[in-house]
Amino acid sequence: MMGYAVDLIRKRRDGLPLSKDELYYLLKGYADGKVPDYQISAYFMAAQLSGINEEEQQLLQQVLKEVAQLERVDLNKLRPKNQWICKKIAGERLEKNEIKQLIQAYMKKESDIPDYEMAAWLMAVYFHGMDKEELADFTNSLVDTGEKLDLSAINGVVVDKHSTGGVGDKTTLILGPLLAAVGVHVAKMSGRGLGHTGGTLDKLDAIPSVQPTAKFNTALSLDEFISLVNKQKVAVAGQTADLAPGDKKLYALRDVTGTVESIPLIAASVMSKKLASGAQAIVLDVKVGSGAFMKTEQEALSLAKKMVKIGTHLGRRTIAVVTDMDQPLGYAIGNALEVQEAIEILQNQGPDDLREVVLVLGVEMMCLAKDVTPEQARNELERALSSGAALQKFKDWVLSQGGDPSVVDGALPQAKFQQVVQAKQDGFIQSIQTEEIGFCTMKLGAGREVMEDQIDPAVGIIMHVKIGQRVEKGDVLFTLHYNESQRLIEAKELDLDRLITLSNVKIERPKLIKGVIMQ
Ligand code: URA
Repeated sequence: MMGYAVDLIRKRRDGLPLSKDELYYLLKGYADGKVPDYQISAYFMAAQLSGINEEEQQLLQQVLKEVAQLERVDLNKLRPKNQWICKKIAGERLEKNEIKQLIQAYMKKESDIPDYEMAAWLMAVYFHGMDKEELADFTNSLVDTGEKLDLSAINGVVVDKHSTGGVGDKTTLILGPLLAAVGVHVAKMSGRGLGHTGGTLDKLDAIPSVQPTAKFNTALSLDEFISLVNKQKVAVAGQTADLAPGDKKLYALRDVTGTVESIPLIAASVMSKKLASGAQAIVLDVKVGSGAFMKTEQEALSLAKKMVKIGTHLGRRTIAVVTDMDQPLGYAIGNALEVQEAIEILQNQGPDDLREVVLVLGVEMMCLAKDVTPEQARNELERALSSGAALQKFKDWVLSQGGDPSVVDGALPQAKFQQVVQAKQDGFIQSIQTEEIGFCTMKLGAGREVMEDQIDPAVGIIMHVKIGQRVEKGDVLFTLHYNESQRLIEAKELDLDRLITLSNVKIERPKLIKGVIMQ
């Protein structure tokens, strides 16, 4: 019920009037208590702000009349009353104290701001946006809803790196030790994966432990975390502190009211968690393409600019790099397979695209932390890869968090079976359904559909092609690595031949780095 209702809200938000049946579904559902008030509120706000014509108005009245004959529905009760919410609906900006009070009031245990009013506010932000100060004030209000990590006991500038999420993105596993090898402090709070993108913590879980019954330890206390960063300049921990709980509450409401896809709301959501994590400098990797949250370059650049503005406005040195996600990064997708590919880069081998994204992000991180030029930074980073210093740092880091450093010599879990998908004709690789490749990997057991799902560290996909590459009929396009045949059957339901499209004419490789955004 909730899922269909949110599709209808999105449809109306995007300017398409609902049919009589669709309106009936929403309003009768509300009368029956099956569609919640916040979804009705979001629908009305979307219709009001995107403009409602005479014909649609009449249809709405007709449906309301019919529904009212069945049940009594009081839609007036859903009209927002809160003064700041009404101000935003009217298209005005909120002042710092107003937005702060709004978020604080919404977060109170017995809040006097109901979800349906907040849903109207979210939809109003979707349509009216926020200016630079308002967005920074909103982000700061979200930070203030929870704990803020104090990393001041770390003896140096701490740089954080954040990716907006993609397929095959294992850059953190490489950048942590690489940057530490050139003297930059990396204190990274990471998360688990959900849906088509993987999470760094799940990748680290694939690294065998020195003790057979233990795991790579990411459950570090703040003191342990700080002490490791001071000792060896790199540590990666799971988020234990309650960072920006206001974002969590609002995100849950956005998810069911068609307001996730708002660039200012996404920017504030990402940055609130980064700012609460305590780093002085932040490098953002904004992914764009078929495997990313942002599907167009225009959207990705807009998000990148907004996040850089928020970070800078709130006193953090922030840079964003917009990178391609029209195809998986590197060739490996799946936890142990990705760790293996990360190790190859640290061994100064591995795929060119992954190496390049790592170096571009690494240069930005290094320039934020140290007094070096981009050329000096690139030279130092390349030297750390070719000399083995970054690989040694990786081994030291793995050991310090309870992992087995002999993982670099091939001690990773491997799946029992493999199945290849071949080209049905000659041609050039035109496009890769990257998000679907991510879902396919999840079906094999490498990711989670819901947070409770167990992960199989060994399974995943190895791609064999990149966009623009020429293939012949019968060439292997990708290989599925799996342990359970039932999982393979589920993955095959995605119709694997559809995931890569071939063309008869030559295709350009997409540009890897689309832009670097600085203040
Ligand atoms: N990731 C986030 O953390 N927040 C959003 O709003 C979207 C993606």
